[in-house]
Amino acid sequence: MTALPLPSLRDVHLARRRTAGLLRRTPLVQGEALSEANGAPVYLKLESLQETGAFKLRGATNRLLCLSEEERARGVVTVSTGNHGRAVAFAARRLGLRAVVCLSELVPENKRAAIRALGAELCVIGRSQDEAEVEAKRLVQEEGMVYVPPFDDPHIISGQGTLGLEIVEDLPEVEEVLIPLSGGGLLAGIALAIKGSLPNTRVVGLSMERGPAMYHSLQAGKPVAVTEEESLADSLGGGIGLDNRYTFPLVRDLVDDVVLLSEAEIAAGMRHLFHEERLVSEGGAAVGVAALLAGKAGGEGRTTATIISGCNVDMKAFLAVVS
Ligand SMILES: *Cc1c(COP(=O)(O)O)cnc(C)c1O
Repeated sequence: MTALPLPSLRDVHLARRRTAGLLRRTPLVQGEALSEANGAPVYLKLESLQETGAFKLRGATNRLLCLSEEERARGVVTVSTGNHGRAVAFAARRLGLRAVVCLSELVPENKRAAIRALGAELCVIGRSQDEAEVEAKRLVQEEGMVYVPPFDDPHIISGQGTLGLEIVEDLPEVEEVLIPLSGGGLLAGIALAIKGSLPNTRVVGLSMERGPAMYHSLQAGKPVAVTEEESLADSLGGGIGLDNRYTFPLVRDLVDDVVLLSEAEIAAGMRHLFHEERLVSEGGAAVGVAALLAGKAGGEGRTTATIISGCNVDMKAFLAVVS
């Protein structure tokens, strides 16, 4: 298979046209307390209100719409820490495709149940994303299914980028965008949209201190492996793939800064969103707010937008953090 070129702003526009009517345009709302603390307006892009509870539906929908007739007939398989699997399951059901989701035993039960409820076949295997991936590769080789990667794919990246186009339209004066960063599909897509339209706007990636794969890879100048650790930001765990083709070069070239957050800072972000903004967010979605509260981002008078990337948190765990 020949590799596709890196996606561009044009691909993000095409993704938007292709997915029209299949995705929610999520609200961008001002956070009053955060704006006051920042000394400049702070807006929250509520992807937690996207169908399936996270932005990943954007990339998955765009990817499945790019399948050929023959690929659609074979069905899709993916590996996921939760939200991507949920998005693939949802998009596949809507398009009438068979979907198998492989995930590790570390993925919380609430996320598994949600995928099953969406009609996908679940395959729970191993203690890491890598082990689940071996099973997915077997399904591709032996059953001819089509693998849908969670981030390192041009159509996934341009699908996530549609979120960035909405920010550009709703807040053309934005000066800084704070983006949760794991594999980098979300950041790469949004950065294509933002830098292509507003070249002076800063794009900042946010990861947790516990196992930030993209951060270490950027430092090393090439993709490196990290040890997976448990974190409140479980959606940000996992590696970027040693054979990474798309998100590493795009993030490297487009990101202005990467900030790491402690578990206590992430918890403070979740608490703030709940008590001040009345919003339920998962740890991985609260990192932008966490960075603002910790003084690790903002504070320089820039109009800022932060992505509240998802709300699929185990409710018992969530209530333990916010109460
Ligand atoms: C997947 C995910 C992220 C990170 O996205 P990447 O494209 O892997 O960088 C952030 N927040 C949530 C809620 C996610 O599900």
